[in-house]
Amino acid sequence: MDVESYDVVIIGGGIAGFSAALYTARQGLKTAVITIDIGGQLSYASVIENYPGVEAISGLNLVLKVQNQALSYGVEVYIDEVIGLEKTDQGFLVRTKKGLVFNAISVIAACGKAPKRLGIESEDNFIGRGLSYCVICDGPLYRGKDVALVSFGEKGIENIQFLASIARKVYYIVSSERDPSIEIAKEYSNVSIFTGHRVVELYGGQKLEKIVLVDKNGNRVEINIDALFVELGFETRIDFLKPFVDVNDKGEVIVDKYGRTKTEGLFAAGDLVETPYKQAVIAASSGVIAALSAINYVYSVKGLRRSIVSDWMKKQKTERVISKFRL
Ligand SMILES: Cc1cc2nc3c(=O)[nH]c(=O)nc-3n(C[C@H](O)[C@H](O)[C@H](O)COP(=O)(O)OP(=O)(O)OC[C@H]3O[C@@H](n4cnc5c(N)ncnc54)[C@H](O)[C@@H]3O)c2cc1C
Repeated sequence: MDVESYDVVIIGGGIAGFSAALYTARQGLKTAVITIDIGGQLSYASVIENYPGVEAISGLNLVLKVQNQALSYGVEVYIDEVIGLEKTDQGFLVRTKKGLVFNAISVIAACGKAPKRLGIESEDNFIGRGLSYCVICDGPLYRGKDVALVSFGEKGIENIQFLASIARKVYYIVSSERDPSIEIAKEYSNVSIFTGHRVVELYGGQKLEKIVLVDKNGNRVEINIDALFVELGFETRIDFLKPFVDVNDKGEVIVDKYGRTKTEGLFAAGDLVETPYKQAVIAASSGVIAALSAINYVYSVKGLRRSIVSDWMKKQKTERVISKFRL
């Protein structure tokens, strides 16, 4: 079993995770970001107008800017899902869905939220290969094609309006027969609506080609498509963290003012943590607090007699990093 060793492993590639990574890497700590996707919730925001110092920008581009800053200091990125965490004498072992194992002196959990999934076994096989959880990000790739959308409510309305205007055909799958999005969907001649149905199977080779729906009575419908979009909101997926953190009644991780959890060496940041306001700038700033604390923790574990309270010095950028960017 190959084990990659890092000073700091950051779980989550949203604005909190990449802000933390920028700081740990600038201090010369070997840093990995493991993330299901790049951008997190911000990739669903078509425009951000309230991030200080940045004029209107798409949410994804805002995170990509921070990611590029972090990459330029040597951060390595793995697209994967963390499913296991263990405390060891040396620090932590972090396990991923793809079977990778990481050794880390310190871990920063910045895994705010991830898109809700259908919960079908074959789902993982088609992510990025015809299955997307973000209409605004990937919809434009399917201009003139046949697509299916699983969604509801306000988000369903927004997505129907967008997809119906660019796709040849849209199959809209919505669980409630009284969902407000249905009336809007009816306005488009290229939209077929399936209420009370759910997607139960996905088929394809290199790419997703067909979905199977089932209604309440167990009747099956097979539909050939070029892409399936699933927008059902977000959820936290932090079972692996639970033994190491305290959570409040909303399931938010409790940290102190240094971003410390109850487990030494494990820090948390961003929307994941207990905070009354969920905003990009707040997530970024808590990522930085967790990073500064993790840096001091790693120094102390390494027996280095130094600590930092700020990060002002000009640092050398590195050339090696881009080639290590692991998507
Ligand atoms: C539609 C929308 C519009 C918004 N508009 C604004 C706005 O205009 N201004 C503003 O300030 N804020 C806005 N927000 C809020 C803002 O997006 C969040 O506060 C911010 O993105 C939180 O960042 P984060 O890094 O903490 O978490 P997230 O953005 O949730 O990122 C978490 C990351 O962790 C990853 N992850 C989760 N679980 C795992 C795991 N087990 N293993 C590996 N990776 C994992 C996810 O894939 C994701 O990349 C908006 C949010 C949404 C949904």
